[in-house]
Amino acid sequence: MENTFSVFNKPKVELHIHLDACIRPETILYFASGDREAVKRIAYEFLETKANQGVVYVEVRYNPHLFANCNVHPIQWNQKKGDLTPEEVVELVNEGLKEGERDFNIKAKSILCCLRHMPEWSPEVVELCKKYHNDTVVAIDLAGDEGLKSETFPGHLKAYEEAVRCGIHRTVHAGEAGPPSVVREAVDMLKAERIGHGYHTVQDPALYDRLLKMDMHFEMCPWSSYITGACDPDFTKHPLIQLKNDGANYSISNDGSLPMGGVALDTDYKVAKSQMGFSEEDFMRANINAARSCFLPKDEKQKLLELLYEAYGRRDF
Ligand SMILES: [Zn+2]
Repeated sequence: MENTFSVFNKPKVELHIHLDACIRPETILYFASGDREAVKRIAYEFLETKANQGVVYVEVRYNPHLFANCNVHPIQWNQKKGDLTPEEVVELVNEGLKEGERDFNIKAKSILCCLRHMPEWSPEVVELCKKYHNDTVVAIDLAGDEGLKSETFPGHLKAYEEAVRCGIHRTVHAGEAGPPSVVREAVDMLKAERIGHGYHTVQDPALYDRLLKMDMHFEMCPWSSYITGACDPDFTKHPLIQLKNDGANYSISNDGSLPMGGVALDTDYKVAKSQMGFSEEDFMRANINAARSCFLPKDEKQKLLELLYEAYGRRDF
């Protein structure tokens, strides 16, 4: 245990993790049988895993169309087209999350993802965000290849404008593999309140400085950035170190980057501690940042912050 701090065993908040990357291998087989209960089970088991990792609040994200298997994305689960609608998927995930909350002493909300290569799905994604607003769904996200943005962007922009109009929270994957201009677009055009990853923001000092002043939240996923090659594989050069040193508003999440079924947030914490110079206080601050930047309604957010202050034995962050 010499590689851990006591904070590793204290309550954690995780804001950036993909449900579809966190399915247990045995459940993938179950899913292939076509049993729609599997979608519910995936959400339920996800919360069991997260609770075991000391996560007290998680915002889990997914694209409902992929689970519904619209036969467009090369997802290999052998469902027949039309087995589930995206709306049924959201209802099943909601049920699984609510049951998991009851059984595992964890709080959970969900974020519905638009995909950059599928702008035709985005209108339905935002409608589902509206229909299930605060019924576990708290926000919209945009994920996928940042290089595709020019031809697909108008469809996503429209969905985000509707989200703004309806008070749906917004996060965007930006500056992960892509350049700072994608981050600027996310903030200025899509009205993102948080940036997923955002590593390459630091390459544009003016933009970075502006986002620091705005207290923009960065959802950092260090192990994922290593797996995907989004950053220099040398962790001692990782942009997260600069964010930490600059007192930026960031949090640490896993992203679901480990092989199927693996969602060990501890991997990210260990890397941050051993190779990025994170102190126990830095980890506490990252979790307080996550709590104050989460998409919970105001009163629930305050309760979450109180829970962390209590567990950390201090509130001077
Ligand atoms: Zn992600």
